[in-house]
Amino acid sequence: MQTIGLIGGMSFESSAVYYRMINEMVRKRLGGFASADLLMHSVNFDEIVSMQKAGDWDAAANRLGDVALHLQIAGARCMLICTNTMHLIADQVAARISVPLIHVIDETAKSLKAAERKRPLLLATRYTMEHGFYAERMKSLGVDIVVPEAADRTSVHDIIFNELCAGKVLDGSRNKLMQIIERERAKGADSIILGCTEICLILDPDRLPLPGFDTTAIHARAAVEFALGNEHGEETAAA
Ligand code: GLU
Repeated sequence: MQTIGLIGGMSFESSAVYYRMINEMVRKRLGGFASADLLMHSVNFDEIVSMQKAGDWDAAANRLGDVALHLQIAGARCMLICTNTMHLIADQVAARISVPLIHVIDETAKSLKAAERKRPLLLATRYTMEHGFYAERMKSLGVDIVVPEAADRTSVHDIIFNELCAGKVLDGSRNKLMQIIERERAKGADSIILGCTEICLILDPDRLPLPGFDTTAIHARAAVEFALGNEHGEETAAA
């Protein structure tokens, strides 16, 4: 099993989900008491939010690049940035390390294409929905995404930062998200990208009116596939 490197803390609410999912996937695959060999460096999200608000993406890239390098020196054999938003500077982080960076957009695009989705709706932070890096990379991978209208983008962004990243999961906000999904479904959306690693805390991807693609789960699964390669538990190997 290879050691997984996780750059977390953005927010710690979703890093906890990554930690649990990765370990559960490893246990399920290998059986017994198996758990993941992983290293997580959880940053102070307050510092990162200040950089986001100031638009100082280079400072964020330097900070996360330093973290990635430390994780690699400590033994990580692959790297995950445990947030969609900070993939805005993923190329700069990847350039600081020699181990592969498992990219959340690439992995999500693979899942969408495998399921033959043509018009996925992206629910994410304002940075992810509006900056262009997400839509452009998806397009380069053959996936055309759509985003909610402006007022709805504000609602989604505010729910993520004011509530989910602060550990609050509110029924009223879940209803608001479902209304946004219904509006976009009426306009032709055929699937939903839970494009922020906290959205799985409020929306169950399997209980949506359209197929849901949870980027946290997709990203975690890709890390486990990398870490285990062809390794199987005794039962699977014997089968
Ligand atoms: N975890 C979130 C994401 O997946 C938002 C927090 C952040 O700004 O990094 O985009």
